[in-house]
Amino acid sequence: TAKSAGKNRFRVFDEEMDRHMIRKMELEKDLRKALVHGEFFAVYQPKCDAASNRTVGMEALLRWNHPTLGVISPLEFIPIAEDTGMIIPITHWLLKEVCRQNRLWQDRQWMQVCISVNMSVRMFESQSLYDMVEEALTLAGLEGHYLELEITESIAMHDTEDTVEQLRRLRLLGVRVSLDDFGTGYSSLGSLDEMPVDTLKIDQAFVRKSQISSKQAIISNIIAIAKNLNMEVVAEGVETEEQIRFLQSRGCHVMQGYYYGKPMTADEIGTRYHKAPAGSRF
Ligand code: C2E
Ligand code: MG
Ligand code: MG
Ligand code: MG
Repeated sequence: TAKSAGKNRFRVFDEEMDRHMIRKMELEKDLRKALVHGEFFAVYQPKCDAASNRTVGMEALLRWNHPTLGVISPLEFIPIAEDTGMIIPITHWLLKEVCRQNRLWQDRQWMQVCISVNMSVRMFESQSLYDMVEEALTLAGLEGHYLELEITESIAMHDTEDTVEQLRRLRLLGVRVSLDDFGTGYSSLGSLDEMPVDTLKIDQAFVRKSQISSKQAIISNIIAIAKNLNMEVVAEGVETEEQIRFLQSRGCHVMQGYYYGKPMTADEIGTRYHKAPAGSRF
């Protein structure tokens, strides 16, 4: 009957909720040990100049190799890490790891590029970001301009005065700042010129739909804003030649996406770049 079918549907829904909750609680518990057990690793995705096919930068993306569940996406564990505060020691570790790796690649003359790390709002609330960045650079013997912090519009809008102050100090170290997923948040354009930001990253949602003329209008305007504010612009989620042609025609030349390469482990980056010093090809 309709009534029992409805009941069953609720039961399935409840069971799914339970499974979801159980997994979340399990991940939360395991996350506390993951750092000391060395279960995190970074993958790196190239940012390429479409005209020369040269790699001009990389983004470091976090992965968690869970002992029984396998590799877990940051989309699942970052929110848990943020809720529990674990994101702070994890990001501290990642900053040191990325700077160490970058130093190594530079010493081997495989590439000399700036590598970006994604920031959670928690890093700015903790008031310890500056010290962590400075430590990571010093330990690796790396110059500040080889490290970039990717922040989202929501971070930029959260306690703006204090965030801007922290970013200013970080930039005095040479560290670069980019606005990630630009165009998807609700930040006011009115203060973008006052933000200590070097680069705008066009969100992949726009790039994915760049055959649609209204999305083309938005992309063109993001590129124009970046140019007028003397910022650089990077397109994210680039997968096709058609997207590349369009972006280039509107003045965006730096691309990140599966077309140029998926995020790769340090070993995979090694095999791809050691025969091509300084990123002479993508
Ligand atoms: P994001 O910073 O915007 O990173 C881009 C995401 O898009 C990455 O997913 C990347 O693998 C994916 N991507 C890149 N190119 C393409 C493409 O051509 N097509 C498609 N469909 N996807 C593409 P990932 O690695 O799963 O990361 C997801 C999000 O997790 C990141 O978005 C970032 O917000 C967050 N995240 C990752 N690592 C960290 C971290 O260390 N700290 C913090 N706070 N957040 C992180
Ligand atoms: Mg990012
Ligand atoms: Mg992004
Ligand atoms: Mg994103």
